[in-house]
Amino acid sequence: MKIVLFGPPAAGKGTFAGKLKKVLPDHPHISTGDIFRENIKNETPIGKKAKEYINAGKLVPDEVTNKMVEERINRPDCESGFILDGFPRTVNQMEALDEITKLDRVIEITATREEVIERVVYRVSCPKCGEIYNLKSKPPKKENICDNCGAVLEHRADDNEETMIQRLDTYESQAGPILKSYRQRGILIQVDGSIILKLTESDIQDILDRDPLPPK
Ligand code: AMP
Repeated sequence: MKIVLFGPPAAGKGTFAGKLKKVLPDHPHISTGDIFRENIKNETPIGKKAKEYINAGKLVPDEVTNKMVEERINRPDCESGFILDGFPRTVNQMEALDEITKLDRVIEITATREEVIERVVYRVSCPKCGEIYNLKSKPPKKENICDNCGAVLEHRADDNEETMIQRLDTYESQAGPILKSYRQRGILIQVDGSIILKLTESDIQDILDRDPLPPK
C-alpha cells in the first residue's frame, strides 16, 4: 500500500507510522522531517539549504523537497508500498507526487492547536532509532534514555512554542485544498490523534480496512 500520513505538526504522525510499520513491516517509513534532520546533522548540501527554514518553522522550498522525495520514492524498496510522513505539505508537492506515484490511502491525523502546542513541549525523540516519547504521556523507562537502543534522547530545536505557532499557521494555510483533493479521489481516512498511543495492531488493521470518507 502506498500511504501518506497527513496532519498538523505533532499530531502523532511519527507515532502512528511506528505502529503501521508493525502491520506493514516491509513498507519503508519515509519522513521528510527526519531526512532533513539527518542531512543537517551530516552537513550535506540539502542540510545546509534546509536548516534556516526548519529552525524558523517555515517550509523548505518545494524544489529542494520534491527532488529529495522523488529520489527516495524511486528506490526499489518503495515499489510495493511505503509510508510517507510529512509530504505533501503544499499543492505543488501534491502534484509532484501525483507525477511519480498513485496513492492508495491518505490518513489524516486530527488534533487541535491546543493539543499539539502542549505536545511539542513534552516531546523528545531518539536520534538513533527515531522512537518518539512524551515526557508526560509516554516517558522512557530510564530518564532521557531510549528504551529501544539506549541512545540519549533529544528535544528538537524547532519544538518550541514560537516556532510551533508558525508551523501550525503554515499547515492551516496549505492543508485545505490538499485534503479536499484526496477526499474527492476517495482515498482519505481520518484518525483522531489523541487515541494513537492506545491503538493495537488489530486497531491499525481495522483503520487500513476502513472505507475512505465519501467524496463531497
Ligand atoms: P516534521 O518533522 O515533519 O515536523 O518536519 C520538520 C520541518 O522540516 C518542517 O517544519 C519543515 O521546515 C521541514 N519539512 C518537513 N517536511 C517538509 C515538506 N514536505 N515540505 C517542506 N518542508 C518540510
